[in-house]
Amino acid sequence: MTPPPPNATAESTLDITLTKTQTKVKAAKKGGSCGCSTSGQPQEMDDKLRSRIENHPCYSEEAHHHYARMHVAVAPACNIQCNYCNRKYDCANESRPGVVSELLTPEEAAHKALVVAGKIPQMSVLGIAGPGDPLANPEKTFRTFELVAEQAPDIKLCLSTNGLMLPDYVDRIKALNIDHVTITINMVDPAVGEKIYPWVHYRRRRYRGIDGVKILHERQMEGLQALQAADVLCKVNSVLVPGINDEHLPEVNAAIRERGAFLHNIMPLISAPEHGTYFGLNGQPGPTPKELKAVQDSCSGNMKLMRHCRQCRADAVGLLGEDRSQEFTKEKFMEMSADYDLQTRQAVHVGIQQFKNKVKAAKELASAGAQTVETRPDSPKVLVAVASKGGGLVNQHFGHAKEFMIYEVDAAEAKFIGHRKIADYCQGGYGEEAALDGILQTIEDCQAILAMKIGPCPQKAIKAAGIEVVEDYGVIEAIARKYYDQAFSTQSATDAATVIA
Ligand code: SF4
Repeated sequence: MTPPPPNATAESTLDITLTKTQTKVKAAKKGGSCGCSTSGQPQEMDDKLRSRIENHPCYSEEAHHHYARMHVAVAPACNIQCNYCNRKYDCANESRPGVVSELLTPEEAAHKALVVAGKIPQMSVLGIAGPGDPLANPEKTFRTFELVAEQAPDIKLCLSTNGLMLPDYVDRIKALNIDHVTITINMVDPAVGEKIYPWVHYRRRRYRGIDGVKILHERQMEGLQALQAADVLCKVNSVLVPGINDEHLPEVNAAIRERGAFLHNIMPLISAPEHGTYFGLNGQPGPTPKELKAVQDSCSGNMKLMRHCRQCRADAVGLLGEDRSQEFTKEKFMEMSADYDLQTRQAVHVGIQQFKNKVKAAKELASAGAQTVETRPDSPKVLVAVASKGGGLVNQHFGHAKEFMIYEVDAAEAKFIGHRKIADYCQGGYGEEAALDGILQTIEDCQAILAMKIGPCPQKAIKAAGIEVVEDYGVIEAIARKYYDQAFSTQSATDAATVIA
């Protein structure tokens, strides 16, 4: 028996029904095209690439709704100092601040991976991202990957590095079939880098100031090119530090694209005095969501940008945005049996794929349906905030949301542009007003909130703040489109509705 898709019972029973218009659109599309696919290498290359990223929650924005990842903290040492990092805490280039609960040995990490792979079969990726630099701890890192690859061949392996030692290990990375590598590159101009990195420790020597930064830069570029030559997919993370590298990041974007990076992830600096970082203690602010979006937009014409990064802990477990690491503390997982089962996992992944196909069909029809709705010539681009607990659906109660997904919607498309964290609104009757004020501030530039349900009290306050309330359930893009078409069309747009659960 095929198990249902995991992680949301509503998803497993989702029924996507089409309205008359959409059925017509579907028929027109079928008959209107010759039905031939463009054969030849580019198409084959696209398919190959798609299959490499389609279940990786970080490399594919669509996959992050359905697949989980886990990090194992086996790499304590680091070989550079970043002004945004304090290793008593998770490294800010891959984690949100918070002490890594426990360091693991490779054997413990492999056992944990098998336990989690059994309990959360949609976990598709195992990454090593710290708390230091995985390649400053090469034996622990590669031993962990070896053990996992031997016992769980369907789990994708992934590592994240500052790049300093990368050129030395590309062959080993390739031999272990580690198909995804992230390098954190915050500058390509050492004069900018000098404001971010006080020292670099390379080949048993500490280099301070610009000398160290030059080495780091050269090694990062060399490592990136070597990954490209070895056909390993590379994502580049850049921490946006306002006033230091914000205007410089388009240059970084151009340099990494030229050297074959697949994806660019521009992340906000996380900076607070309590983290004990140089930037935190010296009052260096992180960017506002608007500033982050402006820099991301300035780079987005050139290459694919990641906008769904959650800056996870170095021991994170679960879907992006949910943290189940406390279910798998060392004390707990060492008592659990490693009930990894390849067949069960494969069956679950087939179920996820079928569900994804339904969502994709609904999105395509929503956007095709949108073309049949006439929007006013002055229809603007608007932002909407979405409450979702995964699956690519509007499926969460406003009061349960801990973050909103933000979509930019216009007459042509509904495009995901990022997440915004919010305070819990439901606080058992205490502090809800203050929480609501904070939530409304976080989404003050949004035109509407899309949620499965919103209680009468928050509804009143949301509307008073000039934000529209949309209660619905179904595929996000379809509901966003329906809202937009109703708000800005010159005709009734009800026919462009899509999803009914
Ligand atoms: S930090 Fe970003 S890129 Fe790394 S696992 Fe989390 S979401 Fe993915």
